[in-house]
Amino acid sequence: MLAKSKAKPSSTRRNTVELLFGDLWEFDPAPELADPKLKESYALFIDGQFAAPRSRKYFDSINPGTEKALASIPMAGKADIDAAFQAADSGYRKYWSKMSGNDRGKYLYRIGRLLQDRSREFAVAESMDGGKPIKESRDFDLPMAAAHFFYYAGWADKLEYALPGANFKPYGPVGQIIPWNFPLLMLAWKIAPALATGNTVVIKPAETTSITALKFAEILQEADLPSGVVNIVSGAGNTGQLIVNHSGANKIAFTGSTEVGKAILRATAGSGKGLTLELGGKAANVVFDDAPIDQAVEGVINGIFFNQGHVCCAGSRLLIQESIAKVFVRKLKHRIASLRVGDPLDKNTDIGAINSREQLQKIERLVEAGVHEGAALFQSSCSLPRRGWYYRPSIFEGVTQSHRIAQEEIFGPVLSILTFRTISEAIEKANNTAYGLSAGVWTDKGSKILKMSAALKAGVVWANTYNKFDPSSPFGGYKESGFGREGGKQGICDYLKVS
Ligand code: NAD
Repeated sequence: MLAKSKAKPSSTRRNTVELLFGDLWEFDPAPELADPKLKESYALFIDGQFAAPRSRKYFDSINPGTEKALASIPMAGKADIDAAFQAADSGYRKYWSKMSGNDRGKYLYRIGRLLQDRSREFAVAESMDGGKPIKESRDFDLPMAAAHFFYYAGWADKLEYALPGANFKPYGPVGQIIPWNFPLLMLAWKIAPALATGNTVVIKPAETTSITALKFAEILQEADLPSGVVNIVSGAGNTGQLIVNHSGANKIAFTGSTEVGKAILRATAGSGKGLTLELGGKAANVVFDDAPIDQAVEGVINGIFFNQGHVCCAGSRLLIQESIAKVFVRKLKHRIASLRVGDPLDKNTDIGAINSREQLQKIERLVEAGVHEGAALFQSSCSLPRRGWYYRPSIFEGVTQSHRIAQEEIFGPVLSILTFRTISEAIEKANNTAYGLSAGVWTDKGSKILKMSAALKAGVVWANTYNKFDPSSPFGGYKESGFGREGGKQGICDYLKVS
């Protein structure tokens, strides 16, 4: 059911915020009603068993869409991390290192299938705990997480083809630490290649989104995975530090902020531990004047507003060729006005809740800095729910290279727009950042795509599309976006010691 209404002004900051008035379509609520089967309180998963934390400490996981507590989550302490690595060591020696690749693959297939069986339940849990729209957790996070288990299941008995002629062996127990923006998908990116290559795992989800990782432990039990092969420990940064510094961790695989990545690099230097770092980004989405304009507008929208902009590879800087800038920005503003911000569990929601109060405050601080530094802010005038942490889709025009909003990762639904005249200026501006994770190019010319993809210092360059992922395609960064690759054959090599 649709109804037309007059949009209301979004902010009182009239001098700096351009408001869009006009007719908007309103949708009736379309909530996803599947039961996420949440527990009041969760347990750590160590040595194949659920166990209360030896630390006896818990914290609340908050639903960012409502600000209400969802469940009590254990805060793993030193004794818990000791127990987890002991279990990972024994799981490695007793079972996983003795098992054929063929049999390891069977477990991975089984895990992927069980995840598919329970995907609706997991999608709802993911949206409630993390704030992402249900259509994204349902159609992206869950299918992609299962796809990673299937993909790496296929590699488990074919490792010699990934590294022909080389001598290689697994690390044994590895420590893995993941962020909150794609909780279950990041877990799959970490666990699937590690197990396929014969390692065992101690993994920590981010403190604001632990629920689907702890629910995933139920799937491991159902799959009858030998005890100790995967251990799941929740907690905050201190728990992460215990993992990084643990003598039982032969490799650390970290995905998160560049700041924490640098601290981990310092902590592991000289320890002999393997290390991969998947860190932040400030991607340029470059639109040339010969691009298919409407398709590019959709690509730019998807590039920055997917998952509320909580995406490491988000196209957070639009570089638009000057000759089409005016018409492009007009179309962009028109499209932004139709984005629906609201309840993550509503099937019509385009932009859900910001993951935490802290993240919302960070976005607000950086937007204020953009306004203060002289860029022109435009925000959608959509209405926001009264409770919960939400932010309007926003764009900044008149951004220059020195603005903080052109350099720092905002990690929210905020796009910074810069212009260019020539291809070399586009390359110069796109590469003028400390990061190097991803980029997008929009043009009609194949030769321009080839030139740009070679010149852009980014691990991934999408052409005439954005945010497309596949388990067979490696993903990772240059410069302060980290090192190591996840996905594809390259993702296997990072979990093997080669001699
Ligand atoms: P974060 O660095 O604050 O936290 C990430 C994880 O590290 C969490 O589990 C956290 O508890 C843990 N942690 C915090 N301090 C730690 C410490 N001192 N030692 C060990 N562990 C510690 O990052 P975040 O805010 O959760 O995630 C957002 C960041 O992640 C963004 O910068 C984003 O770009 C990045 N990210 C990168 C990729 C990629 O593939 N490159 C993917 C997703 C997210």
